[in-house]
Amino acid sequence: MIEITNLKKNFGPNEVLKGINLKVNKGDIISIIGPSGSGKTTLLRCLNYLEKPDEGIITIGEVSINARKVHKKDIYTLRKKSAMVFQSYNLFQHKTALQNVMEGLIVVQKKNIKEAQEIATELLRKVGLEHKTKAFPSHLSGGQQQRVGIARALALNPEVILFDEPTSALDPELVGEVLSVIAKIAKEGKTMIIVTHELNFAREISDRIIFMDNGVIVEEGSPKEIFVEQKEERTKQFLKRMV
Ligand code: ADP
Repeated sequence: MIEITNLKKNFGPNEVLKGINLKVNKGDIISIIGPSGSGKTTLLRCLNYLEKPDEGIITIGEVSINARKVHKKDIYTLRKKSAMVFQSYNLFQHKTALQNVMEGLIVVQKKNIKEAQEIATELLRKVGLEHKTKAFPSHLSGGQQQRVGIARALALNPEVILFDEPTSALDPELVGEVLSVIAKIAKEGKTMIIVTHELNFAREISDRIIFMDNGVIVEEGSPKEIFVEQKEERTKQFLKRMV
């Protein structure tokens, strides 16, 4: 369903992605792990052209974009296929939880207000926030804000949800509530790509783990292959540092 071919991205002289190849099947839960600065977030952002790659082909479903020949309309189509959950939530501060989730339903999906309200209310219930529909982000905890962010991503009914370190801005005691919402959605068969430092979580919910270092995929495989039977020295060293 998703295919990334020879993806390259530089920031000035800094080669951040050095030719990434990756295939993701429908319904797969993929976690990307690796040291800070290895290019994980950049890879995720290139997938929906929040960052423009220098080279490479990105395909999601029937849309395919070659970085050498980009059409604006293809970027728009590509973006509709994915939804991003950001590290820092990125909610509209002047809108309530419900309005934040309704926004995409009205603007992107062209639903009428009543329908958008019903769907958004249901999604907030799904993430355990039915009692906070009228709250503004500043009156919600970080964990609650991130759950609104997840409901908002679901509202777009994307083919894939991209999670960019969804718990790394949270106080430790709030991480669990967000991870359990993500785990719940994972069970429903949504395709998900998750950049995370939560290795135990990645191990539990992923079909496949991608280990990145220094702009390349060093090793990929099942959670068992990466966490127990890893072949590459760099993977071993990283995991050793993380325990
Ligand atoms: P990771 O997610 O693995 O921590 P990132 O993809 O965030 O890694 O960053 C990879 C490298 O790219 C880092 O060296 C970072 O400083 C650099 N980088 C990321 N975004 C930008 C940007 N917008 N401008 C310049 N350099 C960037």
